[in-house]
Amino acid sequence: MGIKVELSNKLKSLPPYLFVEIDRAKKEALREGKDIIDLGVGDPDRPTPRFITKALHKASLDPKTHKYALDRGLSELRVEIARWYKTRFGVKLDPDKEVLPLIGSKEGIAHIPLAFINGGDIGLVPDPCYPPYKSSIIFAGGQVHIMPLLENNHFLPDLPLIKPGILAKAKVLFLNYPNNPTAAVCDSSFFKKVVRFADEHNIIVCHDAAYSEISFDGLNVPSFLETDGAKEVGVEFHSFSKTFNMTGWRLGFVCGNQDIIAALTKVKSNIDSGVFNAIQIAGIEAMRNSDRVIADLKALYEKRRNVFVDGLNKIGWKMPKPKATFYVWAPVLGRYTSVSLAKEFLEKAGVVITPGNGFGESGEGFVRMALTVDETRLKEAVERIKRII
Ligand SMILES: *Cc1c(COP(=O)(O)O)cnc(C)c1O
Repeated sequence: MGIKVELSNKLKSLPPYLFVEIDRAKKEALREGKDIIDLGVGDPDRPTPRFITKALHKASLDPKTHKYALDRGLSELRVEIARWYKTRFGVKLDPDKEVLPLIGSKEGIAHIPLAFINGGDIGLVPDPCYPPYKSSIIFAGGQVHIMPLLENNHFLPDLPLIKPGILAKAKVLFLNYPNNPTAAVCDSSFFKKVVRFADEHNIIVCHDAAYSEISFDGLNVPSFLETDGAKEVGVEFHSFSKTFNMTGWRLGFVCGNQDIIAALTKVKSNIDSGVFNAIQIAGIEAMRNSDRVIADLKALYEKRRNVFVDGLNKIGWKMPKPKATFYVWAPVLGRYTSVSLAKEFLEKAGVVITPGNGFGESGEGFVRMALTVDETRLKEAVERIKRII
């Protein structure tokens, strides 16, 4: 008795999950009671600021928030997002047509190819990358074409290398700066090239700006939409997750081209029923006080970055200081692959790091370490690494 549960071809064709062994080894070490320093997870260790949880609590007591959220989100939130965007980037957005709240930016990223991809169409995706870019294209029935992000090109894709046959079938292009996992940033001259490229080949640009507010040494990274013509070719995804330590809340937004946003709205209206209204109200409160929160956030990760990267450079493991994100992207040491280095660190030092090839084949030769533990633990991690390298 019983059915044979057979997975769909799409599910079967997703890129393999490469962290299985590291995950298993980490769980085992924890079970044995070992003291593990986990630099593996891209999830802030600090709590959501109190004024935001208080706003949620207050809003949740109002029965009006208990109903289905309208498909385009609260207009007050969209207005607040547009105000923040104007102040932060100097870009004017129409809150009714050019801003759409999301159930976390991952949700919008996962759904957007459904609006544009037909069987056989191609999605251009950086490699290494945040995994949902690839899976969203596969779920929509498209083919993934990877654009390697190489150190000698500052981890930017080399767009002129993409062959005409690929370009003819390409419908969407995912980009992400500041970048996870490489921590690379790009400047406005790269965005200008992207706009020209997208316009010439009729490709929709989906820029993921989840780390736009985590940058160091006084740097303010640009929005894609600051570029002339960007709104004609694309959208930008933003998230409350990293900026406000709200990963579990599920709140983000997409903004930019109104036709692209209308298409995503139509997809979503068939799948979800919006973000809990009380969370949207708390999001408004977060945005209104963002200057204070963001200043503290930058200071926190900048200090951690200095302690950790200076420490590692001092013990002979050379790597650049990231200008943004809470990741350190480091070349593997001599005889190791990214996986064997991660295994060695876990077994010998009790330090969890992420092998770069888990983000795509071009990530081989690197490991990612997240600055999501406090300074004392980062110093301890440096000490432990020193003993084994
Ligand atoms: C963390 C992260 C996100 C945020 O996703 P949410 O769904 O908003 O929590 C988006 N993109 C990248 C590259 C990330 O690392």
